[in-house]
Amino acid sequence: MTDELEQRHAAIDWEYASAPESRTIVQFRDRYGLVIGGEEIDPASGEWFTTASPATEEPLAEVALAGAKDVDRAVAAARGAFDGWSRLRPAERSKYLFRIARILQERSRELAVAESLDGGKPIKESRDVDLPLAAAHFFYHAGWADKLEYAFPNRTPRPLGVAAQIIPWNFPLLMLAWKVAPALACGNTVVLKPAETTPLTALMFADVCRQAELPAGVVNIVTGDGETGHALVQHPDIDKLAFTGSTEVGKAIQRELAGRGVPHTLELGGKAANIVFDDAALDQAVEGIVNGIYFNQGHVCCAGSRLLVQESVADTVVAKLKRRLSTLRVGDPLDKNTDVGAINSKAQLDRIRELVASGEEEGAELYQAPCELPEHGYWFPPTVFTNVAQSYRIAQEEIFGPVLSVMTFRTPAEALEKANNTAYGLSAGVWTEKGSRILWMAERLRAGVVWANTFNRFDPASPFGGYKESGFGREGGRHGLEAYLRFDG
Ligand code: NDP
Repeated sequence: MTDELEQRHAAIDWEYASAPESRTIVQFRDRYGLVIGGEEIDPASGEWFTTASPATEEPLAEVALAGAKDVDRAVAAARGAFDGWSRLRPAERSKYLFRIARILQERSRELAVAESLDGGKPIKESRDVDLPLAAAHFFYHAGWADKLEYAFPNRTPRPLGVAAQIIPWNFPLLMLAWKVAPALACGNTVVLKPAETTPLTALMFADVCRQAELPAGVVNIVTGDGETGHALVQHPDIDKLAFTGSTEVGKAIQRELAGRGVPHTLELGGKAANIVFDDAALDQAVEGIVNGIYFNQGHVCCAGSRLLVQESVADTVVAKLKRRLSTLRVGDPLDKNTDVGAINSKAQLDRIRELVASGEEEGAELYQAPCELPEHGYWFPPTVFTNVAQSYRIAQEEIFGPVLSVMTFRTPAEALEKANNTAYGLSAGVWTEKGSRILWMAERLRAGVVWANTFNRFDPASPFGGYKESGFGREGGRHGLEAYLRFDG
């Protein structure tokens, strides 16, 4: 864009009238029990907790808090359903997955509104990203269910048994789909534990399973807190554990499972480098940077939270970025014009504030988009730190919020060294016009996913997962199926 054009753009007043999505499409019940063996039941623990909207702090519903006894019942129900489900003709299993995918599509507006209410993410993201991708995962895996013999020729693939699955709050329904779809396609049954702050779409998914007439006990949902997750990990009758969440809890789970012979996959944190070379299409790169870190308020394990920009274009890129930040609309997640929604919880907001304060104390320069934050709820403005040294906590630790740390480099080798200088290894982005440079970088970046001239793109056919402290195992694609199978051949 020419300077003149940019100035003209800057002069335009980008005020938008509000465009609220109707929330009446979702009628939450007052209370949700546990979904075990195809029935909704009260928790044996007798305990309940309230899930609230992070945008308004308004309570949405009461949800059962499962204790060890409840987890035991859920695992027993999954065990009871396993024989029938695993022996079903694979083409029949496919039909159930197709049905679930279709129902997710049919109910996508309702589920998107519920996701935005319970989790705080902008409706345009839950509507255009989370829901379509969740349905796509079920469609994709429906196609695999009767072709496993061809996916793994001469290896006689068999289901593992009862899959215990623990998911986080940043993509509640999508993470459920990433876990449940391959597990079912491979003939396993499931006990799923959603995150404490975002249990509602998992409970609505149980209703989707009921609509699809999925046999009782194939999918069981135990809501609760970290203790519920812990009880599930400890349960002696699980055959597989899949976890997405913090590196800290991932490590604790690994310790817990040591010596028990339970196969597990861990998808943990990240500190991705988004690397911009001086020959890149800079306006396009700025869009990619914004998408990389402000998408879903930065609550994204593969977020491009470190921007590495070539020194010769650093000033230009940072100026363009700041200008672009001032056009981001922060606020009501149910407004279709909103770009950045609410922070998922008070605890996460405190964590972001603490890390941002450390960045200022250590000497980084803070820039925040000028925006008015709502009075109630949990909010944090889109933030950019320049003058960041690699040793600063904001350059090393996962902030999991809308906070970008900008650093510079001179040569491709320096970019590579800085990009790999992290305990994590989940994702990276490379922006350049040279195909050879993309390949050179991708070969050397220690990251499970490398995006070229784009960022945060997902596809069920593409395996996703990390190295180092970002965990191990892959989700999606043929690799993802492998994690839910044993091989007799
Ligand atoms: P956690 O790792 O605590 O939560 C992830 C899931 O694990 C939730 O369902 C949680 O339950 C459950 N859980 C918590 N403790 C245990 C346990 N001891 N055993 C088994 N399951 C458990 O993440 P947080 O929600 O605390 O977020 C903290 C930080 O983690 C964030 O700031 C972010 O940096 C990172 N994070 C990374 C994610 C990623 O996708 N890589 C996703 C979420 C967080 P419950 O919610 O009920 O406590």
